[in-house]
Amino acid sequence: MQGVLSKDIKYVGGVGEVRAKVLEREAGVRTIGDLLMRFPFRYIDRSRLMTINQVDESMESTYIQLRCRVVGKSFVGEGSRQRFVVEAIDATGSVELLWFQGIKWIEKRIESGREYIVFGRPSFYRSRMSIVHPEIETVEQALSRKQESGFQGIYPSTEKLSQTIPIKAMQSIIHNAWQIASTDPSAFVDPLPEVLRRRCGLISLRDAIYNIHFPQSSELLRQAQYRLKFDELLGVQLTIQARRTERHSRNNGFLFPRVGDNFNSFFHTKIPFSLTGAQQRVIKEIRTDMISGKQMNRLLQGDVGSGKTMVAFMTMLLAVDNGFQACIMAPTEILARQHYASMARFAEGLNVKVAILTGSSKSKERRASLEGIASGEIDILVGTHALIEDGVQFNNLGYVVIDEQHRFGVEQRAKLWTKNQQPPHILVMTATPIPRTLAMTLYGDLEVSVIDELPPGRQPIRTYHYYDSSRLKMFGFLRQEIAKGRQVYIVYPLIKESEKMDYKDLHDGYESISRDFPLPQYRIAICHGKMKPEDKDASMAQFKRGEADILIATSVIEVGVDVPNATVMVIESAERFGLSQLHQLRGRVGRGGGQSYCILMSGDKLSKEGRARLEAMCATNDGFRLSELDLKLRGAGDIHGTQQSGEAFELNIANLATDTQIMELTRDEALRILASDPTLSSAENSLLRELRDRHKRRERIDFSDIS
Ligand code: ADP
Ligand code: MG
Repeated sequence: MQGVLSKDIKYVGGVGEVRAKVLEREAGVRTIGDLLMRFPFRYIDRSRLMTINQVDESMESTYIQLRCRVVGKSFVGEGSRQRFVVEAIDATGSVELLWFQGIKWIEKRIESGREYIVFGRPSFYRSRMSIVHPEIETVEQALSRKQESGFQGIYPSTEKLSQTIPIKAMQSIIHNAWQIASTDPSAFVDPLPEVLRRRCGLISLRDAIYNIHFPQSSELLRQAQYRLKFDELLGVQLTIQARRTERHSRNNGFLFPRVGDNFNSFFHTKIPFSLTGAQQRVIKEIRTDMISGKQMNRLLQGDVGSGKTMVAFMTMLLAVDNGFQACIMAPTEILARQHYASMARFAEGLNVKVAILTGSSKSKERRASLEGIASGEIDILVGTHALIEDGVQFNNLGYVVIDEQHRFGVEQRAKLWTKNQQPPHILVMTATPIPRTLAMTLYGDLEVSVIDELPPGRQPIRTYHYYDSSRLKMFGFLRQEIAKGRQVYIVYPLIKESEKMDYKDLHDGYESISRDFPLPQYRIAICHGKMKPEDKDASMAQFKRGEADILIATSVIEVGVDVPNATVMVIESAERFGLSQLHQLRGRVGRGGGQSYCILMSGDKLSKEGRARLEAMCATNDGFRLSELDLKLRGAGDIHGTQQSGEAFELNIANLATDTQIMELTRDEALRILASDPTLSSAENSLLRELRDRHKRRERIDFSDIS
């Protein structure tokens, strides 16, 4: 967008110096174009009035509109604490309107006995409704106000922004900006060719921008949203698909042509079970990449317990049989130690040397590992973040497996690359199945493999939700299970911000459980992050050997821990965990043959979202469905935590959780466009280039550098 759109917003009616400054600081808006490209995130139907008794606590902080009569007004409090309080009623009830700022001015505008249209977000205190800083106008004003349509856009705002520019002022500013922009025919030249628009049923950019701000009907609003989402996702796809093609054109992958002795003797004589069909398929996919001459970048998704470790180990043997080293990086010490133990066991009798390196490796272990890695004597290195520290020098690293990838920062992954002249093959394994849409966006330039089959004989885990008040019932159930010789996990949340309280909860819980489950009948182990690594290991080992009936732990045991005899997972304060975390924790049971249970304990008062999460957990064991839902409940940015790449593409209007269909459409269109003009360098594609780069500017992480 050029010309008039690059004009400073200062000159738009209703803006001026002060508001311009706030808009720039709070929203990064400098030009008319910036302003018009900030879309409402929701709409209210201003033709809809509610009565006071229709508004209940479930509507807290959503916008509502009332028609009510002022029956009293007063100033309350002193000095800077002073506020202006209005009592208003309709035929069904009363509401309190509150102002903390500009109160003298507001007071003059409000007459007792008069009827007003009140617009704002209600809050409730002891079932009494109040609205802080509502917008208010007389019924006559409201009737005379020329309405573009019944819909009013609500723009993203900050506290500062909404103080300086109230909703209605924002509306009229946008309107004025539109008036200026629409006089310039060059302002909204459509970047999408006519044929494409017709093929995909898209309205013009100009109509879309107009209707996104001032919807003329709900149908036009839908079409406007569709068009603008399309543009945004097309920009994303043009970036991703170009990168993918570019990566595919590079010939820089190590070749592992041989299927050698170690692989064969493991596969034919040592493997303790037969691989599932899905495991076999995925191993083949990986092998195909390893003989392609291109560097592999593969994301392996498989629900908890689907047997990813075996896939990792066997494909590492492929690397080793071809004279290369391989490493596997785990997110926690416990998990690294567990992988080490099972891989060392798998490797017995093979000609493969396995070693471990973690942050808490003693200097002797550490030195031995470092030397062995540098000399090439060690074939497989298992570890934590310690693997990517500067002192770690491989002899010839050919293959890297990253387990439970969402725990790793992107920068950390990038570090692995610099350990080699030539990038090793990469397999990223995740047990948090990433919804397809998100995978397409985040990993559009990665290949994806899926293990969609659990090893045979697993019974679905039964999940129940109990309130704290039914704790005794839960204890009774635990006794029954322990009497059958089963083992139980009890997990407490550990959230960084409230770490202290969390540890207190854990210790209180430990004490109370020790009282209810006394020795010698019950043996209890405890494991949390504040313990020394040796002590943690000792606890885990005790539990693993069946020498403890109950393991009390923080979510450190979330990933990977494997104790087949454990059949009950109790999650305390389950409402504080995210869905994918809950699902991960649940995956710790149901690993042996026995019927397993997951018990979600929660406080009696639950937020709407908290309740939705617990209900979803009880309803399904399907990790994919849960992660789709998680995405819907939390939004994409959050789903893998900030250290993950959820923020790689900051989307303005498209929604990764729901816009799957547009995402797929834009991918096809992007490929079609790139087929004839891979770099978008032709003149007719110059606007598409802008669409792509608008996006790039916001992208914080370049995936081509890391994968
Ligand atoms: P995850 O995919 O969650 O990392 P693991 O690799 O830890 O799962 O495997 C879970 C359990 O299933 C382990 O005890 C593992 O030995 C076992 N397992 C893996 N593959 C099979 C299989 N094909 N048949 C039977 N058991 C298997
Ligand atoms: Mg695992």
